[in-house]
Amino acid sequence: MIDFKSDIINEPTDAMWDAMRAAKPDWIIDRQDPSVNRLEEMAARLMGKEAALLVLTGRMANLVALMTFAERGHQVIVEKNSHIAWSEEWGISYIGGLYPRLVEGRAGVMDPADVEAAITDNRFNHIPVTDLVCLENTHNMAGGTVTSLEQTKALCDVAHRHGASVFIDGARILHAAFAFNVTPAELVAPADAVVFSLIKGLCAPAGAMLCGSTKDIERAYVNLKRLGAWSFHKAGILAAAGIVALETMVDRLRDDQRRAKQFANELNEMPGISVDLASVQTNIVMADISQTGLTTDEFLARLLERGVRGHRLTEQIARFTFHRHITDDGVEIALKVIREVVGST
Ligand SMILES: *Cc1c(COP(=O)(O)O)cnc(C)c1O
Repeated sequence: MIDFKSDIINEPTDAMWDAMRAAKPDWIIDRQDPSVNRLEEMAARLMGKEAALLVLTGRMANLVALMTFAERGHQVIVEKNSHIAWSEEWGISYIGGLYPRLVEGRAGVMDPADVEAAITDNRFNHIPVTDLVCLENTHNMAGGTVTSLEQTKALCDVAHRHGASVFIDGARILHAAFAFNVTPAELVAPADAVVFSLIKGLCAPAGAMLCGSTKDIERAYVNLKRLGAWSFHKAGILAAAGIVALETMVDRLRDDQRRAKQFANELNEMPGISVDLASVQTNIVMADISQTGLTTDEFLARLLERGVRGHRLTEQIARFTFHRHITDDGVEIALKVIREVVGST
C-alpha cells in the first residue's frame, strides 16, 4: 500500500531500532539519562535555543508550553484553525485555565494588525491580559503552509511590544525552514519557544521537543511534573532513536517537499480535481475532488481498493501527506491509480 494518510504513519529506521536496543536507560527523575540529555542538547542546538525538554507527544508539549507562558485566567492568541484550537480538546482551557482568543489567519498566518487588535481590544474599559501569542508553522489545516521569517518577526514584534511571549507550534517547523532555505534556528529566533515533532517526517517512534531559554525550560519541566509526565522512565530508549532521527532524517525532508509539489502539479491536471498550487508549500497536498462527481469517501474508497490511501479532510477535500515511505515510484503509481479512478467516473 502507498499510504498518504499522514506523515505519522511511518516506521523507525533500522539504525533507530539498533540505537534503541543498545540504549541504557538511566535515572530520568534527576535528568541523568544520557540519551535524553544528548537528545535535548541536540534539539536545543538545532533550534538555536539554550535548552530543550523531551515530551512524549506534541500535544502534551504544546500544553506544557501554554502552562509555562501564560497565567490562569489570562488570554492567549491562537489562530482560528490551529491545531491548538481544533485538535487538542481545549486542554488550553480545561487544564491551562486560559482564554483562547481566536484570530483568523490567511493560509494559516495571522495578520500582525489583527493580533494587535485582539491584544488591545477594550470593552467597558477592560483589557484582558494577553500572556502569549501562538503561531503554527507549518500550519496543518491550511495544508502545510509556512510562516516566513519576516512574518514571524512582525508577529513577535507585536506580541513582545505588548508584553506577551510567543510560542511556535512547529510540529513541522523543519519543513518550513527548508521551504525558505533558512536554518530552523534563524526561523524561530524571534520567538520565545518552539515545539517540534520527532515522529512525523523524522520517523522516530515517539517524542516532541520543547525548546526555549534555560529558565523557561526549567519552568516547563515543573509543568510536565504537574501533568504527571515527568516520570517518563526509560525515555532513554526512545531518545536513542530520536538522536538518530536528528542525525539522519532531517535533510531528506526536502525530498518529501519535492515529491509533494510534483504530485500536486500532476493531480491538478486531472479532470475534476483541483489543487491550489500556491498552498502546496511543504509536504501536504489538499485536493478538491468535488468536480469528479464523487464524495471524498467514495473517491478515497476507490483509491484504497487499488492500494493507495489518502485522508478525508472534508466532503470536498482529500489530503495527501508525504513522508519517507512515499518514494518517486510510489508517486508515479499513485498518480496512475488516481488517473484511473477519475477517468472512470
Ligand atoms: C501533529 C501536530 C501536533 C501534535 O503532535 P502529536 O505528537 O500528534 O500529539 C501539534 N501541532 C501540529 C501543528 C501538528 O501537526
